[in-house]
Amino acid sequence: MLKGKAVVVTGSTSGIGLAIARGFAAQGADVMLNGLGDPDEIEAVRSGIERDHGVRAFFDGADLTRGEAVRAMVDGAAKTLGRLDVLVNNAGIQHTAPIDEFPSDKWDRIIALNLSAVFHGTAAALPHMKRQGWGRIVNIASAHGLVASPYKSAYVAAKHGVVGFTKATALEAAGTGVTANAICPGWVRTALVETQITALAASKGLDQEAAARELLAEKQPSLEFVTPEQLAATAVFLASDAAAQITGTTLAVDGGWTAR
Ligand code: NAD
Repeated sequence: MLKGKAVVVTGSTSGIGLAIARGFAAQGADVMLNGLGDPDEIEAVRSGIERDHGVRAFFDGADLTRGEAVRAMVDGAAKTLGRLDVLVNNAGIQHTAPIDEFPSDKWDRIIALNLSAVFHGTAAALPHMKRQGWGRIVNIASAHGLVASPYKSAYVAAKHGVVGFTKATALEAAGTGVTANAICPGWVRTALVETQITALAASKGLDQEAAARELLAEKQPSLEFVTPEQLAATAVFLASDAAAQITGTTLAVDGGWTAR
């Protein structure tokens, strides 16, 4: 369906981003991977995508907490891939602490990666997409882009910011063939959440699986984790022709979290 399209997925060396990159490659798109991690493992992932899907896959290890690095990565990807059709702003981190104890450096880093990188990446991608008259910007926000939880102030602020920025992007790009939307996942069992399950297990004296069940019970009525593959399918849908008139909105994939 997306054969020949060029897709950049930030934070795609693990978790949701990796599943999204694989989802686009499975549709025939060439992909630019990005993220941190062990170089050998990343190379195995990159070459595995090329082998499994018969597409071109590249990797850029830019640290996206720096705005110029985000812009350089996106422009470099457009050059390497020969075009730029889809940007998935996915890279994100978490830190939990009460506001009056929240370390300033953690706040700055979360805002830089989870929010400002979305601005810089979008700013760099829009000229390429507008020139082509077609583009898709898919921002991975969160249920925490729609509602809050205690002790996640920086993350909640950044993700609400992403939802607002997505709307502004959609309005500015309207009529150019470029859409912008945000996906708002509930709990997905990735490294980012496993750390929180471990912390809950330690604080309540539970084993890891009991803590995972408690985490779900608190927020996610379905009592099941969202899978990275379900989010990949949602991102691919937003890049499809069927979604051409979906812009400036949020798609919650959260097992009912934000319905109550
Ligand atoms: P993850 O920790 O598995 O993946 C995060 C990715 O971001 C990795 O590839 C990592 O290398 C990359 N990354 C981290 N710091 C970076 C930096 N400075 N520069 C470039 N890349 C960097 O986490 P995940 O759960 O897959 O999260 C992906 C996105 O989904 C995040 O934006 C997160 O907020 C969002 N999200 C996750 C959940 C969940 O339950 N897991 C729920 C809602 C939203």
